[in-house]
Amino acid sequence: MISYLGCDGAREMLQPFIDGELPTAAQVRLESHLRWCDTCAARVDDLRTVGASLRIGAAVPGHHSEDQRALSVIQSEVLTRIRAERDQSWGVRCRGLFSDMRFLWPAIGATVAVALCFYAVTSVNRVARAELPYSLADRISASANPGSDRNPLQLDSRMLAPRPLDHGSSLDFMPAEDAVFALAAVVTREGRVANFELLDAAESAHVTALLEAVKESRFTPARTSDGAVAVNVVWLLERTTVKASIDPNDAGLLAPLTAPSEKPSAERTSGERPRRAPRPARS
Ligand SMILES: [Zn+2]
Repeated sequence: MISYLGCDGAREMLQPFIDGELPTAAQVRLESHLRWCDTCAARVDDLRTVGASLRIGAAVPGHHSEDQRALSVIQSEVLTRIRAERDQSWGVRCRGLFSDMRFLWPAIGATVAVALCFYAVTSVNRVARAELPYSLADRISASANPGSDRNPLQLDSRMLAPRPLDHGSSLDFMPAEDAVFALAAVVTREGRVANFELLDAAESAHVTALLEAVKESRFTPARTSDGAVAVNVVWLLERTTVKASIDPNDAGLLAPLTAPSEKPSAERTSGERPRRAPRPARS
């Protein structure tokens, strides 16, 4: 296999090559270089032309020698200029960049490394700039925005308190005749109930159903002069059953008991009181 020969090495071998002074091995290397390198091949042609014209000049004696010398000077100046212009052309410069392939892979490696570094820096930057919940940046932005869902206000007399829509959640699922629940909650700007917490969980059997009902509840949001705000509330849900005493000797009152489904009984009225408006939470 013929070892690689770059343009710089080839250039030094051109003159001995033309003079026939190159060892055979070096000659083979140079010839294989000249086969693909147009620049060096053109240089060989130039050197051969100059050599030939010098030989002609030397061979012709007499009064033409002055002209011949002048001619060969002009010739060599022209050739030098052509060569210089060709060396400055973009094509030759670009080819020169790839003349030594030893630099190709390090250059590709360095480019890939720079691209990876750039990607890593942008990823870290993106991750670092994202606001994580409960991060300092997130807390600062919440506290800079009072009345938002993350930073609810305390109800006060200057606010319009939240009112339940659709009569609030029902306690009909409760088998007990009387029940009271107290909830600490946030009524959001959209009128939903968030972050609620049962303050009195005595009736633990129905807590799940109760919390489902609370979750479904909708309010008109609390309002200040600036618009809807989220507020902390304590919500009291109360169910009371009212019983009337019956005199068994009073036939007039006993009659409806025989057909309770046809006529609402006056004897026993069950239902929950409309909820009280949420009161300001404890501070
Ligand atoms: Zn070359």
